[in-house]
Amino acid sequence: MHARRPDRNAPAPLLAPGSALVLFDLDGVLVDTLPVMRSAWQAVRAEHGVDVAFESYAQHLGRPFSDIMASLSVEQVEEVAHTYGGVSVRDAHLARPFPGIEAALRDITADGHRIGVVTSKPLERAVPLLGRLGCPFAVVRTPTRERGKPAPDTLLAALVETGSDPADALYVGDMAVDQEAARRADVRYVHAGWGYGEPAEPKPAIVHEPAELVRLLRVSSCPAATA
Ligand SMILES: [Mg+2]
Repeated sequence: MHARRPDRNAPAPLLAPGSALVLFDLDGVLVDTLPVMRSAWQAVRAEHGVDVAFESYAQHLGRPFSDIMASLSVEQVEEVAHTYGGVSVRDAHLARPFPGIEAALRDITADGHRIGVVTSKPLERAVPLLGRLGCPFAVVRTPTRERGKPAPDTLLAALVETGSDPADALYVGDMAVDQEAARRADVRYVHAGWGYGEPAEPKPAIVHEPAELVRLLRVSSCPAATA
C-alpha cells in the first residue's frame, strides 16, 4: 500500500499553527522611501557624473548598494556611497510609513506573532525609520558580514537570532529579490502589492494592503496564487 501523496493543488499552509516570526522588508513594504532614494540618486548623478537614470537604479532595489553599483558598472563606489548615504540621512523626512502599516503591525503583534525586519539598508539609516513605526521589532538584520539579498543569509541570521524555524517564519517583500531570498532560506513569502516591484514566477501570495496581510495570517492557508 502506497503512502498518500500530498495534493499538489491543495493550498500550502501559510504557517505552522501557533505564534510566528513575521519578517518584513523595509523600503517599499513598511516605509515609502522612494522620494528619499530619488533625491539621493540625483545627488550621485550630479556630484559624480554618473549617467544612470533613477529608473535604472530602482530596478535593482532590494540588493545591497555596492552590489547595485557593480551591476550598473559604477566606479568610485565608496565616494558614491558616501554621497548617497549623506543625502539619504538629510532627506529622511521625505519618507512615510505606508498607509495602514502601523495598524497592521500592531494587529500582528496583538495576535501573538513576533515581527522583524530584514533589509539591505544600512542599520544606521534603517533604525531611525523603524523608530517612527513605534513597534517592538524582535530582530532587525542588515548585511554586515553576510551576503545581501537575494542570498538567504540575512533571513537565516534573523531566524538564528530569534531561535525560529523556517516553517514558523514568513517574509513580506516587494521585489523579486526578496522572493528569491525567501525561497533560498526556505521561508514562506508574501508579496506586498503596494511596494515597488513585481513578483517572479511562480507567483506567490500577494496582498494589496497591510490589512489584507493581517487577515491572511489569521487564516490557516494561502489563498490560491493569482496568475
Ligand atoms: Mg523593498
